[in-house]
Amino acid sequence: FNVATVVASSSNSIDANATSLQITFSHGGKSLIKVTDDGWGIEKSQLDLAIRSHSTSKLKRNDLENIRTLGFRGEALSSISAVSKLVLRSKAKGEKEAAELTATNGKLLEIRPAALQQGTVVEINDLFFSTPARLKFLRSDRVETQAIYDVVKRQALVNPEVGFFLQEVGKNKEKVFLDLPPEKGEDMFLKRIQAILSADFSENSIEIASRREGYSVFGQISLPTNTVSSTANQYFFVNGRPLKDKQLNGALKAAYFDFIGKGRHPSAVIYLWCSLDLIDVNVHPMKSEVRFKSPSDVRSLIVRCVNEAFIQNGLKSNKLLSSRISKSFSPPTEKSIWRIDEPLNIFDKQKNENEIGQKSFSNENSWSSGKIDGNNNRDNEGAENFRLGLAKAQVHLNYILAQTKDGLVIVDQHAAHERITYEKLKLNFINKRTESQSLLLPEIIELASSEHEVILEAAEQLKEIGFEIENFGDSAICVRGVPALITTSDLKSLINEIIDEILTTGATVSIDNRIDAILSRIACHGSIRLGRSLNAAEMNALLRSIETTPFSAQCNHGRPTFVELKLNDIEKLFGRK
Ligand code: ADP
Ligand code: MG
Repeated sequence: FNVATVVASSSNSIDANATSLQITFSHGGKSLIKVTDDGWGIEKSQLDLAIRSHSTSKLKRNDLENIRTLGFRGEALSSISAVSKLVLRSKAKGEKEAAELTATNGKLLEIRPAALQQGTVVEINDLFFSTPARLKFLRSDRVETQAIYDVVKRQALVNPEVGFFLQEVGKNKEKVFLDLPPEKGEDMFLKRIQAILSADFSENSIEIASRREGYSVFGQISLPTNTVSSTANQYFFVNGRPLKDKQLNGALKAAYFDFIGKGRHPSAVIYLWCSLDLIDVNVHPMKSEVRFKSPSDVRSLIVRCVNEAFIQNGLKSNKLLSSRISKSFSPPTEKSIWRIDEPLNIFDKQKNENEIGQKSFSNENSWSSGKIDGNNNRDNEGAENFRLGLAKAQVHLNYILAQTKDGLVIVDQHAAHERITYEKLKLNFINKRTESQSLLLPEIIELASSEHEVILEAAEQLKEIGFEIENFGDSAICVRGVPALITTSDLKSLINEIIDEILTTGATVSIDNRIDAILSRIACHGSIRLGRSLNAAEMNALLRSIETTPFSAQCNHGRPTFVELKLNDIEKLFGRK
């Protein structure tokens, strides 16, 4: 109730065209909630009307479908004043003098002249003081405080042109939660988002914007590499109202399904506008609720919008990660220099070729001793043509170092290959071009009886992605074919992974998502393993594939497939800049 009180009072201020709002509270709102605004105010003669039930100045025609203001039932102030000590002080535009109304438990005590420049102050003291039994149902001060902070944040996010100040006061404490100036201009929403969400979010997020069939969407969403463990940072707004709706969280979950691991969630601020005939506004006196007439349209709109943004930003790597990397490079100390066991052996081409037994380096020019002679003119030839540059070396049998026009890229070859295989499998599946390769020797796999049942039930679906699986007695299956794109030497463990996937995601997700999840497992299984040495041509081929594969900046588990270090940062590391 006290959270609703904050919402109701600040909505009234916004309805009154206020440009700045100050909210002060103590004890989680139980002993004080005070909302001060600079809106158009309430005329002295209307003050007592404001706290009367069903009295509103906002609903001119009885037209519920066309509600644009936040409140319209005239219930909020009357229900608040019914259970508290209320002071309502206001000076309407054009009036000479401010007036103040006091009421206790809904009973008007007095209206008298007061001092106020402009706007309205609503002061609510001791909510439920006369019905202590109901006080017990309020949560702890700390929990209520967080809830107030959360709702005010939501209102601030959707009203960037209004300044917000939120403060907790108390005997020994005074804490400012928000102090946001009014924003204006085209990017006022972005500026407000930046002021409220973490810098981490702003730096690692992308914009979404789209308009179709009566809906328009705008917002900012985190990159798949920048996720958190709860949905608390997902904010949705519909036609200027904050909205908490599990279905919208679900739409985001579906949109990110392919890109992030289990239990991780993106942060997002999404504003949705739609024509009023696409929603039902059903407003309870103390909370507003919006229902979409077609939830599935909204869901697919969000999914499409997010995916489009990913495609457009497909190769944006996580800046934060790169900056962490550059921070983690530290100059060697005197001691550590002398501890390097094999100093600079990367320049010793002969030795490397012998040791690794493969041509791990890109071309004659790049790592040859010519470089030591200072002849590195051709060192970066062609690199500017490619976003991920030219492969120069493979280190630790999994990381490809590539030189770009203005930096260095490190690619996780397993993660990248997994993503590419996954996207290919999916594309083939969607286009019904899945190819199955028959196994020379069909493989018989023994299973536990429950698993046996699960896999046979899914056999039809698995056929669509390239598996030929038949029943083979009580507890075994016979695999005759596998998807053509994969190479695996351990079919049994792949089948077990698929069973595991079906059992864990099972009924909780749609068929499409389930197939995607299975394809993702297959891709992981069938990709270049860590520890495989690649030659220059193979490395460059992989880089070129990443550049042309959608969503390839992260693997199926949401880890980045590559990180980038700008030459500029490298130079800073060495104190050259
Ligand atoms: P509603 O907002 O649904 O109209 P409320 O009970 O919230 O009902 O408010 C009753 C009336 O009091 C409003 O219609 C409005 O005229 C007036 N009012 C309340 N708060 C303010 C405010 N901060 N500034 C101007 N008018 C206000
Ligand atoms: Mg209201």
